[in-house]
Amino acid sequence: MRDRPEALVVGGGPAGLGTAVALQAVGVRVLLVEARRLGASFRRWPRETRLLTPSFTANGFGLADLKAIAPGTSPAFSLGEEHPTGRAYARYLEAVAHHFGVPWVRARVKGVEYREGVFRLATQGGFLEAPFLVWAVGEFSFPRRPFPGASLALAYARVGSFSRLALEAPERVVIGGYESGLDAALHLAARGVRVTVLDPEAPWEADTGEPSYDLSPYTRSRLRGAPKGLLRLRRERVLALGRSGQGYLLVTDRGRRTTPHRPLLATGFADGLDPVRHLFHQGPLPPGAPGRAPPLLGGRVHPGPRPLPGGPQGAARGGTLLLHLQVPGPLPHRGPGHSPQAGAGRGAPGGLPAGGHVAGGSHLLPGGLRLLGAGWTRGGPLPSSPGS
Ligand SMILES: Cc1cc2nc3c(=O)[nH]c(=O)nc-3n(C[C@H](O)[C@H](O)[C@H](O)COP(=O)(O)OP(=O)(O)OC[C@H]3O[C@@H](n4cnc5c(N)ncnc54)[C@H](O)[C@@H]3O)c2cc1C
Repeated sequence: MRDRPEALVVGGGPAGLGTAVALQAVGVRVLLVEARRLGASFRRWPRETRLLTPSFTANGFGLADLKAIAPGTSPAFSLGEEHPTGRAYARYLEAVAHHFGVPWVRARVKGVEYREGVFRLATQGGFLEAPFLVWAVGEFSFPRRPFPGASLALAYARVGSFSRLALEAPERVVIGGYESGLDAALHLAARGVRVTVLDPEAPWEADTGEPSYDLSPYTRSRLRGAPKGLLRLRRERVLALGRSGQGYLLVTDRGRRTTPHRPLLATGFADGLDPVRHLFHQGPLPPGAPGRAPPLLGGRVHPGPRPLPGGPQGAARGGTLLLHLQVPGPLPHRGPGHSPQAGAGRGAPGGLPAGGHVAGGSHLLPGGLRLLGAGWTRGGPLPSSPGS
């Protein structure tokens, strides 16, 4: 059938959307499948949380805005902010999808089968099929709970607003002290809450020069300006969490702590690969494998049989590529088994094929959002981009 998609992209975050735009630009019929809304992870961030990496409209110098997902676009230009909130960034993502005419359906993919060159996706509303599949469901939907009783704590991903949380208790224990843990601690302390952060690796002391380990400059500068006396940072590993009377008991490698208020859990995220894990090659690749096309590992083309640290995340199967894409970012990929590479595959924006050009102009979109540039094309305007 002419209109049947050639590629299904699952996940409407920056990785999925950026990939869908890139595939469309080279003439692939794409259908994006998103369980909630485009940019759903960012919409579910705590209201006050902002992106860590700075945005700047560097397009005029031939450079990309660090947080752009499609050539010629710039969140800094569209949003007028260097560190937008999650909700603002989601508006940029929606604007890109609208501008490039990315077709998408709302459906949660529950299972995937691969047979005779076709991926078959089971959703609550029926089946979707295509010969190519891009899996880009991110991590935010899958908080990691790494010790017994962790589900008693409030996961960072479930916090609606720190302003509201600050009104609930005058003190709070935060488990995990990397980006999201410190984001929570700093927002709460700024609102007068006494916060104790527990993390066995004391990320606030790390200074390796590797951005997957070290805190972002944004968080470091926030730490320097933290209210004195309200923030306590402790090198301490939580082993278990339980109830104790009206409060909570934390068993740690330093002893026991009690707190009357529900601790906040910021121990990172899992990979969301469950529905497709069986389709990925696990373990080291045999020399020369898999033959017809190079394996794709975490979104990166891997030229040889040498496995990447953290293990292969994707491989060619019979000439059909199944990719697991994640936008690299200073995520709290931490906890047991953490490696800086885990989940840090170079995703859609970095993986865009070269050779296009950016047409000029600026476009006003619904909601008053402006988008820079007309799109990235192969020599002519994109037929599917309404504004070009
Ligand atoms: C507090 C915080 C601050 C951050 N700051 C930055 C930063 O400054 N710069 C940066 O580069 N990165 C940052 N990151 C990381 C960045 O948010 C992630 O790397 C990025 O969101 C990953 O994009 P993605 O498209 O892979 O996943 P997501 O944005 O999570 O998108 C995945 C989508 O898949 C959907 N989905 C999930 N399961 C299914 C299913 N079964 N079927 C269909 N759809 C499904 C979800 O609803 C979601 O919309 C930050 C993260 C956090 C938590």
